[in-house]
Amino acid sequence: MIAGQTSETGRTGRVLAAEARVVIVGAGHAGGTAAALLRQYGFAGPITLVGEEPLPPYQRPPLSKAWLKGEADADALALRPDSYYAEQAIALRLGARVEAMDLAGRTVTLQGGERLAYDRLILATGARARRIPLPGLELPGVHELRTAADAEALKQALGRGRRLAVIGGGYIGLEAAASARALDAEAVVIEREPRLLARVACAALSNFFQDYHAARGVAFVLGADVQAIVGEGRAEGVRLADGRILSCDAVLVGVGAVPNQELAQAAGLACEGGIRVDLRARTSDPHVHAIGDCTRRPLPLYGQAHRLESVPNALEQAKQAAADLCGRPEPAPEVPWFWSDQYDLKLQIAGLPFDVAQTIVRGEPTTARFAVFHLDPEHRVQAVEAVNAAPEFMAGRLLIGNRKPVAPEKLRDMSVSMKEVAA
Ligand SMILES: Cc1cc2nc3c(=O)[nH]c(=O)nc-3n(C[C@H](O)[C@H](O)[C@H](O)COP(=O)(O)OP(=O)(O)OC[C@H]3O[C@@H](n4cnc5c(N)ncnc54)[C@H](O)[C@@H]3O)c2cc1C
Repeated sequence: MIAGQTSETGRTGRVLAAEARVVIVGAGHAGGTAAALLRQYGFAGPITLVGEEPLPPYQRPPLSKAWLKGEADADALALRPDSYYAEQAIALRLGARVEAMDLAGRTVTLQGGERLAYDRLILATGARARRIPLPGLELPGVHELRTAADAEALKQALGRGRRLAVIGGGYIGLEAAASARALDAEAVVIEREPRLLARVACAALSNFFQDYHAARGVAFVLGADVQAIVGEGRAEGVRLADGRILSCDAVLVGVGAVPNQELAQAAGLACEGGIRVDLRARTSDPHVHAIGDCTRRPLPLYGQAHRLESVPNALEQAKQAAADLCGRPEPAPEVPWFWSDQYDLKLQIAGLPFDVAQTIVRGEPTTARFAVFHLDPEHRVQAVEAVNAAPEFMAGRLLIGNRKPVAPEKLRDMSVSMKEVAA
């Protein structure tokens, strides 16, 4: 069958012909997983995985955690052993940036001018660290944390007695601050909002994390208006609007991420704060799928579209794209989830707190084992944020998926097991 024609399965014409050329742009968590799944689902045709970074697909979560603390090496980061790609006949093109796409001609153009033809394209270009217009950003000693190279540079700047200033009190900033403390470096977190994690977690969680970090020596300046990074030839301090200068040896700017959608946008694909896709990871072009951090995807549980930045989402969408290309049934949508590790804390979050009428704290935050449940007006769990509370996370995730209402008084009562709450 020729790519694009109706398949014998009678599906929509997107099922891959055996000889179809698949090109994946972005050799990150999503792109690497999609390549592997295509093989796992039986596709034997040519797959080319093009990545701008010099490394085969690797995991980013350890970059701010175990890897920054020196507890993981490059092998531990790798998604799969280096030999895997040759064994599976997946052609890796590393250090290769795709600069343009031609949807009509079905080609992508690499930096340097080489063109790759495709029958099916998967865009997995991820996201990049958000840059804010700030005087002094260009000084040596100013870091961002998205890639292994970023993490290596930051690691070099940490160590006993060094002072790290983190601009942005989100997950990456807090994880980096915890890692800095583990290395006996000092850390100050500077946040514009009046609380940490303001965009991504509830107030109870913000307060808990602030106290936990403060007790371990992290300093905070909240509601701060950062005016500039200052220093003679390198970053030596962060100047605030009130005139204070917070001295430091290095600055990490961790103020969120933006989707790498420009390539898709320039080619004419529908984008809206991420490349728009459906639940099969299909874009507005019938020959192009998109997956991972670069997409804006439907969340049927909430009747909304959203851009998610998480490993579980990258894996789910890789599965959607590979299943679609191989003519398999559409995978059932998963409940979105995410985790963060800081010190001895394992934070697990499932769902999204849309349409919340009631918030219930189960357990006592001072014990560092508790969960916050967000319920809609019908007492259905919309989201759960669990700190060192795996049973609450697991049951919460299940309840988010099955939409069964819960009894708030049982949920609040630690003497009632989560099994009973969910029954
Ligand atoms: C420090 C850090 C910690 C994190 N911790 C967690 C965590 O604890 N839990 C969790 O669930 N998630 C975490 N995440 C998020 C998670 O890593 C991402 O959601 C995941 O990596 C997304 O995968 P992706 O393949 O979509 O994007 P990426 O992994 O970013 O991969 C995209 C790749 O595409 C390449 N690329 C982009 N444009 C082009 C182009 N034009 N040509 C060629 N290549 C291109 C990029 O260089 C990159 O290598 C963390 C992220 C970071 C940075």
